[in-house]
Amino acid sequence: MNDGYFQITCDHCGNEYKVKELDQRKSYSCGHCHHLVSVKPVSHFLAGAGPRPYRDLIQHYIKEKSSSRLQDAVAAEELLLPNRLRGLVDAYIRSLSLRFEEDKDYWKTATCREAFETIIQVAMEILPIDTMVATQKDAFHKENQKLMYSLFKIANLNFAYSASIHPKQRKLMGVRNNLFN
Ligand SMILES: [Zn+2]
Repeated sequence: MNDGYFQITCDHCGNEYKVKELDQRKSYSCGHCHHLVSVKPVSHFLAGAGPRPYRDLIQHYIKEKSSSRLQDAVAAEELLLPNRLRGLVDAYIRSLSLRFEEDKDYWKTATCREAFETIIQVAMEILPIDTMVATQKDAFHKENQKLMYSLFKIANLNFAYSASIHPKQRKLMGVRNNLFN
């Protein structure tokens, strides 16, 4: 689990890199050919973590950050969203909770790719993004990836936060609190 969650491929020379976290405000240049690599967070994430268990990703966040830092990270991620979506984040999070938090079997089996697809489905139902993302496929358009990844990350951080403060939630998801590792 210590290798990166993101696999970035240089568009110029095809070199591959693994990174643990992706900073969307940062630009990445290829260590091999020095070209600036275009950041496609959804594609990079799914190339690295797609087949892995989703609950391991949540566990990774709980391990890295305290409850209060997880909460701060959700707020920071919200600020990256377009103005018109920010006021709807609470409704989005509530819908995600309804869809995911009771579903023990889902947590047991879902891969990161499956979770991404389910989360984007909820986002499409709740948020007015249909002019950009009307189908799953649209989430992969280069111009949509930044927004889609932010919405995905808000879901992840929020699940991690919820698990970090609720023992029952951790049990259902099959994750552990860092304190007792
Ligand atoms: Zn390169």
